[in-house]
Amino acid sequence: MSAQDDCIFCRIARGEAPCARICEDADTLAFLDLFPASEGHALVIPRAHCADVFEAPPAALRAVAATARRVAVGLRTALAPDGLSLHQLNGRAAGQTVFHYHVHLIPHSGSAGGEPRIHGRRQADPGDLERLARRIAAELPEE
Ligand code: AMP
Ligand code: ZN
Repeated sequence: MSAQDDCIFCRIARGEAPCARICEDADTLAFLDLFPASEGHALVIPRAHCADVFEAPPAALRAVAATARRVAVGLRTALAPDGLSLHQLNGRAAGQTVFHYHVHLIPHSGSAGGEPRIHGRRQADPGDLERLARRIAAELPEE
């Protein structure tokens, strides 16, 4: 079994595991995080497996960045957060837990600022995530 067979994000990209999808194109997929740090916490992945920024081909990094911007605009319109942070972790020591390259988009509300939390503590309800993903998808700008 290859690393890709065992990779949850590859399984999501192949449609073999469920996700609350926001959008997809030939190279990328965006969906809601199952353990959200805040409402609207989204992930953008390249379809092709690569573990981290060191393995990712530059074209995949560019494609993920373009999709992340689209999703950022959709999140801003759908949820009107006070702030939105983007995060990307490389290696266990940095806190990475899924070893398929991905960018987190985390909406923030309130003016407090402070250290943003990346990992949520509780699994979200899949039905709630599905409804929220549709709300965000409805607000995506043209590519
Ligand atoms: P990282 O720690 O940067 O590797 O983040 C991995 C993220 O993937 C975490 O925030 C998890 O909550 C999220 N995650 C893990 N499995 C799934 C899944 N099946 N569907 C959606 N999000 C997931
Ligand atoms: Zn993978």
